[in-house]
Order: sequence, then structure tokens, then C-alpha cells
Amino acid sequence: MSKSGHIIDGKSISATLMDDIAAKVAGLDIKPTLAVILVGDDPASHVYVGNKIKACAKTGIQSVEYRLPATSTNDEIAKTITDLNADPAIHGILLQLPLPKGLDSDRLIQLISPDKDVDGLTILNIGKLVAGLDGLVPCTPQGALMLIHSVRPDISGLHAVVIGRSLLFGKPMSQLLLTENCTVTTAHSKTNNLADICKAADIVVAAVGRPGMVKGSWIKPGAIVIDVGINRLDTGKLCGDVDFHEVSQVAGHITPVPGGVGPMTIACLMANTLKAFLLSPSK
Ligand code: NAP
Repeated sequence: MSKSGHIIDGKSISATLMDDIAAKVAGLDIKPTLAVILVGDDPASHVYVGNKIKACAKTGIQSVEYRLPATSTNDEIAKTITDLNADPAIHGILLQLPLPKGLDSDRLIQLISPDKDVDGLTILNIGKLVAGLDGLVPCTPQGALMLIHSVRPDISGLHAVVIGRSLLFGKPMSQLLLTENCTVTTAHSKTNNLADICKAADIVVAAVGRPGMVKGSWIKPGAIVIDVGINRLDTGKLCGDVDFHEVSQVAGHITPVPGGVGPMTIACLMANTLKAFLLSPSK
């Protein structure tokens, strides 16, 4: 088997999605506007926010950045959020995580109006996902599902294993796969016999934060493997949660790190901002 044809190219799939969003935005009289709230000086968060702002420019979405000092209080951030909720010219609100220590991100996220919650993390949007209702779906699982669909449009009846159960990724990913009629196993740090469970799966999605944890011997030949992990090694190199060298010999399809799930996250943020705009009264 060719060892390159089965690599899922997240860069190119996300570029197509970005072009599609740009074409839709170009046809709008009023432009969708995303407000990004960045609290503190975390260098990684500054890079992520910079990339989101660049993606807005690429798609024609307007962006407004609110930079708040690391010394901000919960109440000050809450006021920024509630002001943005009330502003009809703002269609999406993103609170960049993690917040500096001592701030209550759980409470602050829940203050975002669900109609403007482009990260899909409010209880209402999570509830809609579980209930099978249309809402704003968290960006990374949404992007991971698109990558799976790019190689297998109908995944009904397949056994999917999601390793990780965070609210940001694992839980919504499992829910999306269940909605697609997969039989879903959600694994976590207390799961017994993880290797055997993965070996029975048609789809393995890894979101743990442990470099190279998923081995080739864990994978059923031909399975689809989606690597969500982003780990920085001591050498400075980025790697995922999947041992790419081993697993790519066995899997039918696999995402690389970088260049797999990562680019999809930002493209799906743009898609969610456009969706929030189209559902807003100001469109
Ligand atoms: P998280 O909140 O730390 O969750 C990690 C999950 O992994 C937890 O559910 C934990 O189980 C589970 N886990 C830990 N050790 C395990 C083990 N030995 N075996 C099985 N499961 C284990 O992380 P997250 O936010 O979901 O992110 C996970 C990874 O994805 C990170 O590397 C992150 O950087 C990456 N990520 C990438 C993107 C992107 O855009 N590409 C977006 C989000 C996250 P317990 O619940 O039992 O503790």
C-alpha cells in the first residue's frame, strides 16, 4: 500500500473549508464579526489568538480583539462578556483559554450568550448536541469529524473509540460519533485494557496529551486514526498522541501532527462565526 495516500491532509481540507466560507462571506452585505477576549500574557495564547485573527482576515470575517491584563478580575471579564452579548454588531464571542490562574473560566464561559458561543462550550449548546438539536458545536471535534468523513462519508454502524473525555473535546466528539450512528466507546485514564479496546475499533480518536501513546499493535488493520494531541517534545518538535511511524503502517487512514486536526479547528471557528451570524437578527 502507498504510504502517503492514506494520510489525511488536514491542511488542504481546511483550506477548502476556508475558501467556501470566504465565498459565502463575500456575498453578504453586513460582515460577520468575531470578538476575541484575551486575558494575560501567555505566549501560546497570543499565538493562537493571532492565528484566529489571521483566519478572520482570510475569510472576510471582521474581528475585534479585547486584550485584558492578567490582573483582571472575574467581574471585569464578566462585564466585557455581557457588553459584547448586548452588542448587535458582535455575532461571535471567543474567550481564549486557559485563563490566568485564579480566574473562574467555568463561570465566565457560561456567561457567553449561547447564540454567540462560537466555541460551543455553553451548557445550552452542549445540551443541544446531546439532544441532537442544531446548535454551535465545539470546533475541534467538528473538524475531526470532517476529517473522518473525508475518507468515509458513511460511518454508520462502525465502532469508534474516543480516548479522552474532556468537555472541550472527548465528550462532544463521542456525542458527534453517536449522532452519526457509530457504536462509541469513550476511554479515559481509568479505562482497563485500552489497547484491546482500540484494537476492536474501526475508528480511533486520541485526545490525551501523551506523546506517542497509541501504538501500532493497538490498531486494527485498515482503521481510521485521528490524532488530536498536540505535544511539544524537549527537542522543540511537535508530536501527537499517536506513534505515527508505527500506526501509519497499520491504519487505513491517519492524520499527521502537525497538519491534521489543528488546521481544522480554526476553520471550524470561522464556520461557527458565520453560522452564528446567519442565525442572528442583524444578518
Ligand atoms: P484534557 O482535558 O487534559 O483531557 C485529557 C483526557 O485524556 C482526560 O479525559 C484523561 O482522562 C485522558 N487520559 C489521560 N491519561 C490517559 C491514559 N493514560 N489513558 C487514557 N486516557 C487518558 O485534554 P484535552 O483538552 O481534551 O486535550 C487533549 C489533547 O488534545 C491535548 O494534547 C491538547 O493539546 C490537544 N488538543 C488539540 C486541539 C487542536 O486544535 N488540535 C484542540 C484541543 C485539544 P481522565 O478524564 O480520567 O483524567
